[in-house]
Amino acid sequence: MGSKLIDTHTHLDFPQFDGDRERVIERALAAGVRAMINVGADLASSQAALALAEVYPQIHAAVGVHPHDAKTVTKQVLGELRALASHPRVVAVGEIGLDFYRDLSPRDKQRQVFEQQLALAREVGKPVIIHDREAHKEVMAILRQWFKSSPELPGVLHCFSGDLTMAQEAIKIGFYISVAGPVTFENARRLRELVRQLPLEKLLIETDCPYLTPHPYRGKRNEPAYVKLVAQEIARLKEVSVEKVARITSDNAQALFALDL
Ligand SMILES: [Zn+2]
Repeated sequence: MGSKLIDTHTHLDFPQFDGDRERVIERALAAGVRAMINVGADLASSQAALALAEVYPQIHAAVGVHPHDAKTVTKQVLGELRALASHPRVVAVGEIGLDFYRDLSPRDKQRQVFEQQLALAREVGKPVIIHDREAHKEVMAILRQWFKSSPELPGVLHCFSGDLTMAQEAIKIGFYISVAGPVTFENARRLRELVRQLPLEKLLIETDCPYLTPHPYRGKRNEPAYVKLVAQEIARLKEVSVEKVARITSDNAQALFALDL
């Protein structure tokens, strides 16, 4: 099917896919998506992510608790996450981080749970998938510290929303920058400029489905097949072929998550 893409951030276990999950996955494969990383947002969805990864060879799991749900994290939850994280079908710890935009968990609790899950990633020796919304400074401060203790363990800043200086610093400490559907939006001038300036060798692509549906399907449910629209926009911005974007971002994902494809 031409280009082979890796969607590095999906939530296929979410109820939005309960009616047609199997067809959504088939459409993704037909559209040239050869692997997907299904990312946990809380303990239940982390378990569901692993369950999907055990059924579909193209789906790999990440397990973690999103900052929105930091308030649900107890010692017991951390223990269960640890058991999940060591499973061979789990390729990363995520999504973890800070969200000071919606503030659905107290900020101190968000920080604590973020650090606990970074420590967990170090323990199991897997990379991290970072969610950062309106918390750029704090996220970078924490990652800088983490890098000092775990320089061999990189990660990705998913659906990146920071500026060029932040992206360059993140790259310097081993992180990839992931680009999602918003790069196709009409008002994405800043994000497009950022993509133009960053090396393709440091970019990943993702849908974050069911959210962040790219143009021209904006407003509808997102699905992994649409990751192609993100790749096409990056190709246009960088004036290279879609095949090249697919190949290099796939190589990047494969290297970061140690995917066995
Ligand atoms: Zn997500």
